[in-house]
Amino acid sequence: MTTAPQAYQELSALSKEIRLLRSIAGVLGWDRETYMPTKASPLRADQMSYLSGRAHRLLIDPRFGDLLATVEQDGLAEDPASDAAVNLREWRHDYDRGVKVPAELVEEITHTAVLAQRSWVNARKASDFSIFQPHLTQLITLTRRMAEHIGYEQTPYDALLDGYEPGETTANVQRLFAGLRAELVPLVQAIQDSPVRPRSEILTRDYPVDRQYLFGRSAAAAFGYDLAAGRLDTVTHPFCSGIGPGDVRITTRYNLNFFNEAFFGILHESGHGLYEQGLPVEFFGLPRGEDIGMGIHESQSRLWENFVGRSRDYWTYFFPRAQQMFPEALADVTMEAFYFAVNEVKPSLIRVEADEVTYNLHIMLRFEIEQAIVSGDLAIADIPAAWNETFAKYLGIAVPDDSQGCLQDIHWSFAGFGYFPTYALGNLYGAQIFAAARQALPDLPAHIRRGDFSPLLAWLKENIYSQGKRYRSRQLVEKISGAEPSHEPLVAYLQAKYGELYHL
Ligand code: ZN
Repeated sequence: MTTAPQAYQELSALSKEIRLLRSIAGVLGWDRETYMPTKASPLRADQMSYLSGRAHRLLIDPRFGDLLATVEQDGLAEDPASDAAVNLREWRHDYDRGVKVPAELVEEITHTAVLAQRSWVNARKASDFSIFQPHLTQLITLTRRMAEHIGYEQTPYDALLDGYEPGETTANVQRLFAGLRAELVPLVQAIQDSPVRPRSEILTRDYPVDRQYLFGRSAAAAFGYDLAAGRLDTVTHPFCSGIGPGDVRITTRYNLNFFNEAFFGILHESGHGLYEQGLPVEFFGLPRGEDIGMGIHESQSRLWENFVGRSRDYWTYFFPRAQQMFPEALADVTMEAFYFAVNEVKPSLIRVEADEVTYNLHIMLRFEIEQAIVSGDLAIADIPAAWNETFAKYLGIAVPDDSQGCLQDIHWSFAGFGYFPTYALGNLYGAQIFAAARQALPDLPAHIRRGDFSPLLAWLKENIYSQGKRYRSRQLVEKISGAEPSHEPLVAYLQAKYGELYHL
């Protein structure tokens, strides 16, 4: 007979083993994107699916369920904010999600996604949605089946959203986005109508790649990203890999004739990296030591990239350094001209290239279409038309072809339905968290103007990073800011910043 404390110990050991397997997969995944020889692809796929299969089997083993039940019957987790209660809540959440979906269905989705990804690449190249359509139809059918297995309160989309943003509901997100959209559409229009324009050609001059690397690396280090516990490498699709304590790696891609691409990419990924490096090491392998979810993760990358890195205070310190690093490109440029250029607002077709103001409209469009296809309200064949119509309504521009429209993102090809909203939630949370930091740290702007980010990092570490999964996203935002998540802090920030830049 296993006692509750023994069961808790055994669960902790299993949880750590699963995390260890995932961290090994993390190293392999990072290697695949950076230095792996091309011919190693099939072996790497085998290695990685072996590890993820093993981790999944440990989680859904009936033993895991029995141990959970034993601990739950005991009073071990009476205080819901205690470390043990947090671990139990998350183990239960993951176990339930894991066992409810039959292994054959998981395999079928994985298998279908491999073929779907190939067809998506071809469809995008040919800019022909009909090539991708049959695969997308299959994936939607399987995803719906998965949502039914997981269960949901109001809509199948809830079950999908929960996979990326635990505990969040479609209705909540709809409310948040509706408020945001009502303010953003007229703001974008007012900016479009403004006669003031930045000198954007400043950013497309020659920025030697080796110096971009040095400059970006020093900017990440200035934030407090620990390069002795990380690396900065070059990839096609940038990401941050939180392998574990002492090993959090970031990546970027360089463009000789566009300063923003690598630099703000590095700031973004180092924001993810700071969160990972700030997680409590003593709880590694337990939910209490893990990040909350995609929304809060993204709030940290956006906070460092935009709220700090695209601010006038930031460039007051960094612009003279940029001029030293890139004298040919920036000798005749003023700080104000550069600051305006990196904050240009311009409705564009591609999400990943969008500015701070228009970005969220790209997300809302995807959120609406995903809900409609998951619920069956929109036929798969009608996605391009629905996409183009909504795009024109929100951003005021016509989509010339599917490759620059509904085929631009990889997410649907791996059945990542429910992922997109977390990007905009990240922006909303980021604004609310940054506003709270400014209140708590009255000297923050002065610190940033001196290039001293340590007070902000310490505050974020105490309030967010060290908390691990103690709270759900909404709770955490409310605890930090004293208010429920809302569109208002983000709107206030955007209106003030861009109202001044564009003389609105
Ligand atoms: Zn990100």
